[in-house]
Amino acid sequence: MKSGLQEIYDQHVIGNYKRYSVCLVRGEGSRVWDDEGNAYLDFFPGWGCGLVGHCPPRLVEAVQGQIARLIHVPNTWHTEPQGMLAKELASRTGWGGQSFFCNSGTEANEAAIKMARLHGGPGRFKILATLNSFHGRTYGALSATGQPKYHQGVEPMLPGFVHVRYGDLRAMEAAVDGETCAILVEPIQGEGGIHLPPPDYLKGLRNLADQHDLMLILDEVQSGMGRTGKWFAHQHWGIAPDCVTLAKGLGGGIAVGGLIAREEFACKLKPGTHAATFGGNPIACVAALATIQTIEEDGLLERAIHLGTRFRSRFESLKTRCGLIADIRVKGAMIGVELNRDGAEIVARCLEKKLLINCTHQTVLRLLPALNLSDADLDEGCDILESVLLECK
Ligand SMILES: *Cc1c(COP(=O)(O)O)cnc(C)c1O
Repeated sequence: MKSGLQEIYDQHVIGNYKRYSVCLVRGEGSRVWDDEGNAYLDFFPGWGCGLVGHCPPRLVEAVQGQIARLIHVPNTWHTEPQGMLAKELASRTGWGGQSFFCNSGTEANEAAIKMARLHGGPGRFKILATLNSFHGRTYGALSATGQPKYHQGVEPMLPGFVHVRYGDLRAMEAAVDGETCAILVEPIQGEGGIHLPPPDYLKGLRNLADQHDLMLILDEVQSGMGRTGKWFAHQHWGIAPDCVTLAKGLGGGIAVGGLIAREEFACKLKPGTHAATFGGNPIACVAALATIQTIEEDGLLERAIHLGTRFRSRFESLKTRCGLIADIRVKGAMIGVELNRDGAEIVARCLEKKLLINCTHQTVLRLLPALNLSDADLDEGCDILESVLLECK
């Protein structure tokens, strides 16, 4: 990194993130460049937001056109991009639904939590969630997050959240009482280490919600928008939730979050109950539309499945040669490789070799590659990762 910038950060930027001493200046597809001209292969573009790679051409063109026409107007007016985005989303759920837009994943979950409590009515306010989940950093979403380490020091949390083991249908059933209004789960736990649901889990949650008039909310902030090879991860398990929350890949890197809810739940957000000033702004919505168009026209749902298969076979063959790999969990382009050691050093060594990956929960290497990653780039990155893992064993 060129000199001076580190000091500016040290003096003027709050240190709530661990940052590598690399300054990125440009990106294209699955490559990014730093201010010294080094190129990196990116298997974790934009922390999962770069769903179709860095600076995807359709998105760049759409945003450049929109920003010169109309940047932002409040939600007291109609704009075409917001309407069209809601329509495109509804046509992909298989169960219709109406959308609300905001700017991030945590905000999307806040809106869902409010909707759930409005659905519950007086005295029914409890939301069942899972341990090891991640739903965001604002207080409602943070309270829903079943990880005490994120609560420490900033309690008290919002009341009314009950956490049970992920994948355990019986525990969920046992936790329902007369005050319960909703179930909130990630269909695939992301930040928690890429954990896939047991085969009948989501169907079981659907039944449970139906039996007790609970709103079934799926947090697809990480797993949604084609990441797993279907528009929404829950479609792999053939169920329809009452509400899905989205962000990360939705805008292809532009900040946009939102939820899609069935009409009988969506109607709970009447005028005055909820709002987001920047929510559904034209820039964000054309970016999301261009992301959807890119996925559609470039066949990237199929591509996500292909990437998953190819990554899995690379890691499975490596597992037989390298004692470090404990488990491999893959759904499309959502990839977790659990190690039986700490992963931070692996990530740092990959960075030295110009490959960007992530490690979550200390031991799980997490890859959320762009859906249009080429086979050649996949192999190049896997070669690097393989050499690092073999060096470290
Ligand atoms: C990242 C994430 C969030 C939070 O999204 P932000 O945009 O950072 O607020 C919520 N839920 C899941 C499943 C996530 O992966």
